Amino acid sequence: MPKKIIIAIDGFSSCGKSTLAKALAAKLAYVFIDTGAMYRAIALYFLRNHISFNDQVAIEKALQHIQLHFAYNSATGKSDMFLNGENVELLIREMKVSSKVSEVAAIGSVREFAVAQQQAMGAQKGIVMDGRDIGTVVFPNAELKIFVTADPAIRANRRFLELQATNPAITMEEVAENLQHRDLIDSTREHSPLRQAADALVLDNSHITREAQFELALNWAHERINLA
Ligand code: C5P
Repeated sequence: MPKKIIIAIDGFSSCGKSTLAKALAAKLAYVFIDTGAMYRAIALYFLRNHISFNDQVAIEKALQHIQLHFAYNSATGKSDMFLNGENVELLIREMKVSSKVSEVAAIGSVREFAVAQQQAMGAQKGIVMDGRDIGTVVFPNAELKIFVTADPAIRANRRFLELQATNPAITMEEVAENLQHRDLIDSTREHSPLRQAADALVLDNSHITREAQFELALNWAHERINLA
């Protein structure tokens, strides 16, 4: 029986991290966790309950009322994010949440709350987790760390096509601005900023197919599993 490892996938917004992570997890029969969905669900809770992002006391109190879990959706073949028992998978992808999530994810107590749950999820290994700080903070000892990048214009276009399916009114400018805004906050924040771990393997997928990217990452995973 091969040993199980932890695969950490980090990178900028809309680089295709989740697609890659999901495909790797399916192939290896590992658990896939989209940590961005957790920050999005927390942001949704804060927005709904008018929690001020500067009010530490209100934030700490709100976090005590937030329960997050993922559940497999056989119709889509993906795991959906649940916030206090409600399926919020579609709501958390809306622009209302996207435009605020990075501010929420920059709050120290929010990160502590989410990271503790992420670390518990990976305690048994056999996990592929994607986010911004997985290889640097959540699992600094992950056996395989991949840092995914892509040209910003290509990322914006991919995201635009994806969002247009559910929101035909969305504009390319809106999508590009949101990506720039999140990348800036994510990489300059005080707590766990987005950065490439020193031992991460870089995967620039601007000009390679999804399949080629998958093959490359799968080879890396097999190498690391054999070493484990
Ligand atoms: O991955 P996704 O784009 O859905 O993540 C939404 C936001 O959540 C990011 O822009 C970032 O601000 C935050 N995030 C984070 N740390 C993670 C995952 C996501 O700060 N590990």
